[in-house]
Amino acid sequence: MNEYDSELLSGILLNAGYRNSLDPEQADVILLNTCSVREHAEQKIHSRLGELKQIKERHPGIKIGLLGCMAQNVRNEILRNKPYVDLILGPDAYRNILEHIESTKKHSADTKLSKYEVYEDLFPARKGGVNAWISISRGCDKFCAYCIVPYTRGRERNRKLSGILEEARTAVRNGFPEITLLGQNVNSYRDADKRFPDLLRSLAEQVPGLRRIRYTSPHPRDVDEALMQVHAEYKPLIANHIHLPLQAGSNAVLAAMNRSYTREHYLKLVEMIRSFVPDMAISTDIIVGFPGESDADFRQTLDIMQQLRFDSAFTFKYSPRPHTRAWKLHDDVSEAEKASRLTELITLQKKHTLQRNRAMIGREVEVLVESGSKRRPEEMMGRTSCNKVLVFPREQYRRGDLIRRKVTQARGVTLISRPDENE
Ligand code: SAH
Ligand code: SF4
Repeated sequence: MNEYDSELLSGILLNAGYRNSLDPEQADVILLNTCSVREHAEQKIHSRLGELKQIKERHPGIKIGLLGCMAQNVRNEILRNKPYVDLILGPDAYRNILEHIESTKKHSADTKLSKYEVYEDLFPARKGGVNAWISISRGCDKFCAYCIVPYTRGRERNRKLSGILEEARTAVRNGFPEITLLGQNVNSYRDADKRFPDLLRSLAEQVPGLRRIRYTSPHPRDVDEALMQVHAEYKPLIANHIHLPLQAGSNAVLAAMNRSYTREHYLKLVEMIRSFVPDMAISTDIIVGFPGESDADFRQTLDIMQQLRFDSAFTFKYSPRPHTRAWKLHDDVSEAEKASRLTELITLQKKHTLQRNRAMIGREVEVLVESGSKRRPEEMMGRTSCNKVLVFPREQYRRGDLIRRKVTQARGVTLISRPDENE
């Protein structure tokens, strides 16, 4: 989401005549687009601001801006303690970025959240590659107990279906054969009587030249048979992958997290998904050490992982965030315990990833060619429909080709297709 927002901001600045600079010492404006979802992300920005302060001492004319969720969250502290930060803009204030940059005020700040802003008519300046991010909704109304997003990004609001179709067509015309729809709860999308499966269907049918559709992240609560029906119907145009954040495997922790589903519901959901699309890759997000999570609770998370064997998982240590419901709870799982749970979880996930990838050996997969391989110039890489990286001989392929290759090896997270080197 932040990458998309950065592309949106680049679009506004490039249109106004600004140019990218690779050297901060040469820049007129330096903007940091920030994340508040875990404390660690904020710490990184504080140390980056320290570096920028020194640059500003050498070049007092530079304007430094702090943008995004952190601007929302720490505005007053920055205004008080970091006077060298010239502009502070929350995620709904980007439309007026030029006025803020050009403002002669000592500080220019706007961290108001909007009920309406979806940046409908602004087109992002996309980086190269094959995938175009398209934001279809902003904000979140789910209020998971640990999560700061509803406070930093505000209420959930959706773009118009017609605007999304238009942006997808433009992306394809500009050389992006793949799109990824973005939303904090991408599948709670609606535009009048149209829901998320209708949006997928419209994109599949009405965007000539589009080769692959992805989306992230759906909330388990809003995954239903209608969604899986569209997957089955438009396979392989709609990719064979769903990112389905589990967060925790114990019902007590799920309830405390306000996730609104149980482990039984989640297990049934995956069964339903696999009944429609048997080879669907499933990835997830998991948090360890939420307040009150006992060792037995944590074992329930491992148990679900054993039962389902995710293709991959993003794993996090619980990080208390201000404003959230859990902020008031005692962060009672020690740092050492969180670290040891995380290690156990990662070890198990690595095993499952390798198992799932090994099961692909001998199968032919569809790959969207992305780029040359950095380490071996005679090879290229692309992603399978299941969102796994595949490395294969360069041959005559070009970026954006949709090709079929037989998997011959699995190395950790990477699949390899080298016809002369079978595993
Ligand atoms: N809207 C998306 C993603 C939200 S943030 C979703 O619901 O899936 C991405 C992930 O960060 C979450 O899924 C969660 O696993 C993790 N996360 C969010 N807040 C966190 C916190 N306070 N501590 C640790 N991990 C957190
Ligand atoms: Fe955060 Fe939950 Fe909303 Fe995801 S669904 S952004 S985890 S509050």
